[in-house]
Amino acid sequence: MSSSRILVLNSGSSSVKYQLLDMRDSSRLAVGLVERIGEETSRLKHTPAGAEAREWTGPIADHEAALKAVSAELAKDGLGLDSPELAAIGHRVVHGGKHFTEPTVVDDTVLAEIERLIPVAPLHNPANLTGIRTAQALRPDLPQVAVFDTAFHTTMPESAARYAIDVQTADEHRIRRYGFHGTSHAYVSRATAQLLGRAPEDVNVIVLHLGNGASASAVRGGTCVDTSMGLTPLEGLVMGTRSGDMDPAVIFHLMRVGGMSADEIDTLLNKKSGLIGLCGDNDMREIRRRIDEGDEQAQLAFDIYIHRLKKYIGAYYAVLGRVDAIAFTAGVGENAAPVREAAVAGLEELGLAVDSELNAVRGDAPRLISPEHARVAVAVVPTDEELEIATQTYALVKGSQNLT
Ligand code: ADP
Repeated sequence: MSSSRILVLNSGSSSVKYQLLDMRDSSRLAVGLVERIGEETSRLKHTPAGAEAREWTGPIADHEAALKAVSAELAKDGLGLDSPELAAIGHRVVHGGKHFTEPTVVDDTVLAEIERLIPVAPLHNPANLTGIRTAQALRPDLPQVAVFDTAFHTTMPESAARYAIDVQTADEHRIRRYGFHGTSHAYVSRATAQLLGRAPEDVNVIVLHLGNGASASAVRGGTCVDTSMGLTPLEGLVMGTRSGDMDPAVIFHLMRVGGMSADEIDTLLNKKSGLIGLCGDNDMREIRRRIDEGDEQAQLAFDIYIHRLKKYIGAYYAVLGRVDAIAFTAGVGENAAPVREAAVAGLEELGLAVDSELNAVRGDAPRLISPEHARVAVAVVPTDEELEIATQTYALVKGSQNLT
């Protein structure tokens, strides 16, 4: 029997999310999560397909222990990591810089480059590296594939990727706009073309990935030409806890007048700003509940969120020239009908509108929410980053097997 299983690992500093997929039919064999790694109360939650979830709490010292615990859980379902049916392990890697434009089989050079990028991704790349090294130690014979969050955006033209700052300084410190959530933007833009029954090459899409982190992208014929996140995920839209776009001089002001350190400002803008900074909540469900009760602070936070979103829709409309579809995705984009309605309200002149009844329908499948003969399709397209990582990983290892 040929190997057709892919394990997808998303390693954070104190957590590992995983999914085991069978690529013959892209089905999930198991999904799970280990969190609070390094604490006494680490938790593992493992859900095999079609069965009850199993939970376990206790000390899990490090990523190696976490992956061993995951393997033990998988083994109980006959899916252990030692299985010959496992074809490869696909790793989400947040920052791939300018040069990783494709999923890449990991070797020492690739590991060194991911390590070299740590200064531009200090929170994410170290954890991603740990995940890869741990998986390598467990199955040294297996291809480990890095799938980069930045890869889809490497096609951005220099006019979109460069900041207007001194070129030498920018190049010396590798300061440019890299963009993130690329795996999701790639998957959703393709799925949107499919929903329209057209080839991705023929379709221009604005993708709005609205989760706790949020980003927009302009995709022309399957190729990303602009995205809202930059050197780091801080730029762009108003997010759950991040400010998004802001006059950079706010930072000097906080340093000089507010007496804050760089680390304090980093925490302020990444963790205590956006919706949570504006109204104390970052969950859109809670914000909508408060608005329904007449809460003005929640209403203002919502209005600021929508105003920024609308500006990006307008900007990317101009960047693309012709827009065939706008796709909403991720936790807020897939679930919050009021956000979708407000984001396109008043844009009828651009061919954009939402049908209230279609917008109110809930579901897991990609669907159109624009009126029947609208010039621009407005769609809800659930993202699936794990499936995309598995698909890219499988395509890469299958391709290389064919060559040998
Ligand atoms: P992450 O960026 O952590 O991957 P997700 O894409 O899972 O985030 O989105 C999480 C966010 O989605 C929550 O913080 C919440 O604001 C929003 N969300 C989830 N479900 C709903 C819902 N039913 N209605 C409105 N917002 C929702």
